[in-house]
Amino acid sequence: MAAKKEIIELFASIRGQNRRELLEFEAKKVLSAWGVKTTRIELARDTNEAVKLAREIKYPVVLKIASPDIIHKSDARGVKVGLSSEIEVKQAFEEIVANVRAYKPDANILGVAVQEFIPPAREVIVGTLRDPSFGPVVMFGLGGIWVEVLKDVSFRLAPITKEDALEMVQEIRGYPVLAGTRGAPPADFEALADLLQRVGELAVEFPEISEIDLNPVFVFDEGKGVVAADARIILGEG
Ligand code: ADP
Ligand code: MG
Repeated sequence: MAAKKEIIELFASIRGQNRRELLEFEAKKVLSAWGVKTTRIELARDTNEAVKLAREIKYPVVLKIASPDIIHKSDARGVKVGLSSEIEVKQAFEEIVANVRAYKPDANILGVAVQEFIPPAREVIVGTLRDPSFGPVVMFGLGGIWVEVLKDVSFRLAPITKEDALEMVQEIRGYPVLAGTRGAPPADFEALADLLQRVGELAVEFPEISEIDLNPVFVFDEGKGVVAADARIILGEG
């Protein structure tokens, strides 16, 4: 299978650079190859490249730091959303690099990734981790305080069926947010279940993946799909 070969080659190249963590644009390549919808994203090494990519991707765009030394990009003030002109893109590029330099002077900055801006929608998190005895586990939650404070998450051993995936979504306490209340339409549960299944499959198919973290995933209304706005993949040791 072409996707599998592409992913194996990318993992080998990451290992070759003595890294275990894929950058967002690398993780999104893996996910797209596996049929998971992500934002289009490309790496710019300077402001001119950033402007050229923004034009190709189409405004508005989002710029984010691409550095193996920066895991939480917002903490380093390395994310700028909703940029809608060449000037804004150039300024955002310079500001992101300056912010990250100030945050971590010795960070190895590969560039700034340019991606499409996703309009506001319900946000969830989807991930996998690897249990030492049971293997890959799929995780689902609403993100933000729902996960961090309320620990409102559901888990299943991978691989999961569509029914498992739908159950995972329905069993969190925050489910009404997705089901739609007070006239809000329901979220696209079909697309969300498909995403959970695919992410589980990916973790099963590649034992070298120790963690996948999609945070946030934007979930649109029924029939309109889902898209991963941020992605991390961590490889195991060895
Ligand atoms: P971090 O490394 O800090 O988790 P993220 O990539 O998740 O950085 O970006 C921070 C926030 O910016 C996200 O939680 C989301 O609200 C917003 N964001 C990220 N990517 C996009 C995008 N493509 N379109 C719209 N908003 C985005
Ligand atoms: Mg994130």
